[in-house]
Amino acid sequence: MNDNSPNPGVDASVRPMQLNCPHCQAILTVHPSQAGLVADCPKCSGKFHVPVPMAKPWNPGKTNVYSNDEALSESREFIGKKNAAGICGLLLGGLGVHKFILGLNNAGFIMLAVSVGGVILGPCLIFPLFGPMIMGLVGLIEGIIYLTKPDDEFYQTYAIEKKEWF
Ligand SMILES: [Zn+2]
Repeated sequence: MNDNSPNPGVDASVRPMQLNCPHCQAILTVHPSQAGLVADCPKCSGKFHVPVPMAKPWNPGKTNVYSNDEALSESREFIGKKNAAGICGLLLGGLGVHKFILGLNNAGFIMLAVSVGGVILGPCLIFPLFGPMIMGLVGLIEGIIYLTKPDDEFYQTYAIEKKEWF
């Protein structure tokens, strides 16, 4: 085993770092000046990136790690939108309202743009009128899917996987 004796010639005030070689798992001692660079493992000569020592992020207010309670209340809140989104899909499907309710904004904007564009262009070109009709049908089908999906599946599909269509 490596007893981590300081290298001669290295500034003793800078502490060397220890890390495991990702290839052979040998414990290596790396001078901090190599942080962020590619180094060669002296044991297996594999190349690896020396990690930069991470300062603890100072961010007491917000955290990306959800506690179980937060995740639970978030999923309840999302499932609470199920009926509203389903009914909006049935009635206002072509406008993408049900997508915006679920936070699927890209898909919502596409539906809204196709529908509004079709209504504007339709009277002179006829063909674009199919846009709002198709979007309305998509919304109708999606509304039925939302309303008939079990709550847990609904949350998994639209909150976690963020499935945008159907
Ligand atoms: Zn190695």
